Amino acid sequence: MASDVPWIIDAVGDGIVPLRRFIDFVCGSRGSNALLSVEYYCCDRPNPIIQLIYLLIIGGTYYLIANTSFSYIPGYYISGAHRYTSFLAVGVGILLFLLTSFSDPGVVNSANVSQYLSAYPYDNIIFSQKECSTCKIPKPARSKHCSICNRCVARFDHHCAWMNNCIGERNTRYFMAFIIWHFLVCIYGIVALALILAGRLKELQVIRVLTAYYGVENSFRKLAPPVLQWLVNAYNTQILIMVFLVIVSLLLGGFFMYHTKLCLTNTTTNESFKWQGHLSWQRKVNEAKASAEALKASLGELSQERKPQESKWKRFFRRSRLEDLEVVKNNIYDKGFLHNIYEVIFPMSTRRSFLVNKSKSG
Ligand SMILES: [Zn+2]
Ligand SMILES: [Zn+2]
Repeated sequence: MASDVPWIIDAVGDGIVPLRRFIDFVCGSRGSNALLSVEYYCCDRPNPIIQLIYLLIIGGTYYLIANTSFSYIPGYYISGAHRYTSFLAVGVGILLFLLTSFSDPGVVNSANVSQYLSAYPYDNIIFSQKECSTCKIPKPARSKHCSICNRCVARFDHHCAWMNNCIGERNTRYFMAFIIWHFLVCIYGIVALALILAGRLKELQVIRVLTAYYGVENSFRKLAPPVLQWLVNAYNTQILIMVFLVIVSLLLGGFFMYHTKLCLTNTTTNESFKWQGHLSWQRKVNEAKASAEALKASLGELSQERKPQESKWKRFFRRSRLEDLEVVKNNIYDKGFLHNIYEVIFPMSTRRSFLVNKSKSG
């Protein structure tokens, strides 16, 4: 997920420099040029490599589960229907992946730019009137030129390497559905495997064997270690898959919460970075202003030493200048969480009013 997690691409980029130097030293300029073109193809141009990795992961995991665990379905705690519902769950996941990968993220072109310009006003804080130097069209507020896909995208969120597509105004809804669906599929897999293993314990009467034949005390504390050891020995593939699914579900859950917070406040990933930059700059400006004023005031006090002094208590309760200059994020696109969710599910450019505007201006 190259652009989904920018530090990964930074780490890869930083790692490539010494590697390039090493190859340049060993193979000469031809070798380092070859490495450069591989880097360009993999990281800077649209390519399906990571899409194929996604298909390999989801297909491989499903195949492994079917191969090792379907023979226990139906089991003591799980019905035979899960052979089909699991296939359906994975199928829907792949459909959502294809929908996000191949849908229009909201490409801005000369035909629709006027609609996007009127749909999103400039806030003159993080977006001001500009022209895209590559597309040679005005840049609507909230849009960004994706350097990988080489196009301007409305309400640009980020370029997702897993999808080999930008995530923007029109496909954020599919992207969110993709993440939450895969999170739920992972949870489904964990629960189903746990039920299969619990069923095996019951069917093979492991607890009875341990207590009656091996004399283990019938308490959770005494039984848990030998039961766990038996499961790890007899069903190591299922345990490994469960650990993998727990890790993936934690990552997906965290990622979904982060994007839900952004959707609820009608902010994109791109805008959250812009706000971070703007607010830290604003804070620095305010600090500089406050210290300049403090310096001016102390110089003034020095020159008017005879003036009656401010009481200790008054000085204690006086607000500091820095508090008065608190920086706030004034997001004009945030119209309340219900409206914000509605805007993600029904993007402006898919609505009739957008098309009516188009025919009027066209
Ligand atoms: Zn552009
Ligand atoms: Zn892109």
